[in-house]
Amino acid sequence: MSDPDPFARGTAFVDGAYVPIADAKISLLDWGFIRSDVTYDVVHVWRGAFFRLADHLDRFERSMAGLRMRIPYDRQAITGILRECVRRSGLANAYVAMVTTRGVPAPGMPRARPSLIENRFHAYALPWIDVIPPDVQQRGAHLIVATTPRIPADSVDPTIKNYHWGDLVRALFEAEDAGADNAVLLDRDGYVTEGPGFNIFAVHDGRVTTPDRGALEGVTRRTVIEICRQLGHPVAIGQLTADDLRAADEIFATTTAGGVMPVSRIDAAILANDRPGPISTRVKDVYWAWHDQDRFLTPVEP
Ligand code: PLP
Repeated sequence: MSDPDPFARGTAFVDGAYVPIADAKISLLDWGFIRSDVTYDVVHVWRGAFFRLADHLDRFERSMAGLRMRIPYDRQAITGILRECVRRSGLANAYVAMVTTRGVPAPGMPRARPSLIENRFHAYALPWIDVIPPDVQQRGAHLIVATTPRIPADSVDPTIKNYHWGDLVRALFEAEDAGADNAVLLDRDGYVTEGPGFNIFAVHDGRVTTPDRGALEGVTRRTVIEICRQLGHPVAIGQLTADDLRAADEIFATTTAGGVMPVSRIDAAILANDRPGPISTRVKDVYWAWHDQDRFLTPVEP
């Protein structure tokens, strides 16, 4: 049976046209696919408005500049495309991605000259995605510290949002094998970095810390830092080891695809009576309350 509204499952912008997500295709020869030579950003739409869109566009532009990519769309044009993807999907709550791939080398183009390849911009909106399912967030996620180290930051810059997920996917398999919900990765010196699609925070005696290395500078992370300051919780971007995590009073993860996600176990350690802790819960509540503040919102329908 044909789908009565294929756009409702998501809408993509590919090669200048809007198509149902199921019909969105890129070339097999695009270096975004065969070389992970791509950058992207993800913003969410909550109740009809983008949250902190300007911050996501800033990061996307920095990421493209870092990879020496150029596209023929300015911020206003990108915003228009993202709006149209959401509008055609008819979604009030959405996961909205903007993606720039290196592109497809023209026939005969020298293979060692990526600067000659025309870069391609794509975008799509999907129904809301939670990196950690809502029922797991409710009870507190069970994490492991993966044995797979995070790819070195001087090989792949983690502040440029990227598709080099080999280490992160290995860590997810480790978590699955251990019966856990998800994983956190250390760098090669033993310091905590981030997880597959989220930043991490630990609370010790009311002091909140998020890693200073090996991680994407998350927009949710920034929001949480601002919330902690407003709530009067001392907050630092600093060093954390696996032992620091296991000794924490509370841990939570943060991402655009889910928000503030409390953790109740890390390896064998049980935190905050095996439930989301009080600071995590408070920060999460304020995070969602800030979704009513106009200063952060860009309505899908202007
Ligand atoms: N770290 C990684 C590797 C991510 O992919 C993401 C988001 O998807 C994050 C952290 C969280 O960043 P943000 O809060 O901007 O979504």
